Amino acid sequence: MEDRRSTLEGKVAVITGAASGIGLAAAERFASEGARVVVADLDGDAAERAAATITRSGGEATSVRCDVTRAEDAEAAVEAAVGRYGSLDVLFNNAGYTNPPHPVEKTTEREMERALAVNVMGVFLCTRAAVPAMRESGGGSVLVTASVMGLRTRPGFTAYAASKAAAIHLARTLAVELAGENIRVNCLAPVATETPMLQTFIGDRDPEEGRAAFVSTIPLGRLASPQDVASAALYLASDEAAFITGAVLPVDGGRSI
Ligand code: NAD
Repeated sequence: MEDRRSTLEGKVAVITGAASGIGLAAAERFASEGARVVVADLDGDAAERAAATITRSGGEATSVRCDVTRAEDAEAAVEAAVGRYGSLDVLFNNAGYTNPPHPVEKTTEREMERALAVNVMGVFLCTRAAVPAMRESGGGSVLVTASVMGLRTRPGFTAYAASKAAAIHLARTLAVELAGENIRVNCLAPVATETPMLQTFIGDRDPEEGRAAFVSTIPLGRLASPQDVASAALYLASDEAAFITGAVLPVDGGRSI
């Protein structure tokens, strides 16, 4: 048997929200599978630390401070990939925002605007910036971290759930529009995942009770790990998924069944 070739050998990836949680796990995994990675995050210092850790472990990574809600930052993240590594093959739109759960009357305009800005406008701006570079590469893979809440919602998440449903439909529309350019666009729909954002989803409930309440709705009986989501992202990013576009892959232990 031939030696196994790394899944993303030769590929260049931009990952947003890559300084923490799911994005960080994906940056580490993609780099370990041969990708050169641009760690893009609102927290520039944390992004720099993440890229340095990957480099120390033998991977290739660079960092850029990037607010996905700003067109010029989205363009700069793509430019960091093309300028440093010569091309762009994978864009992982992973940066996200949620407010804590509360009833609709308590949900502010600011919370709704922020959810739409980061979770929808951010995907639009980063993908728009990436298309010319992907066209130049002969195609590419765009991923979006949506959420199981974009498919099957819960009370208290008016802004977040609506924004993730919009992100899914945005991705599907991009999938049909960009298919002719060999650019695939797919979503991941994770359930509650062990990252810093989990505490925001739990809100002011006791952390253990909040976790138990989520677990009780998940048939496989545990929360997702960031690595569970990174594995699914690796598959969709890679040529193993060459004929898959417009898909929404639940990473949810059966929650959305
Ligand atoms: P996290 O808080 O660990 O990481 C989010 C990262 O995104 C942070 O590093 C943050 O600085 C960055 N970020 C926030 N706003 C940004 C912006 N405007 N521009 C660039 N970067 C920005 O959270 P996570 O759980 O890893 O979240 C990653 C994605 O997964 C999000 O889209 C989230 O909605 C989604 N998600 C999370 C869960 C969960 O339970 N944790 C479940 C389903 C989906």
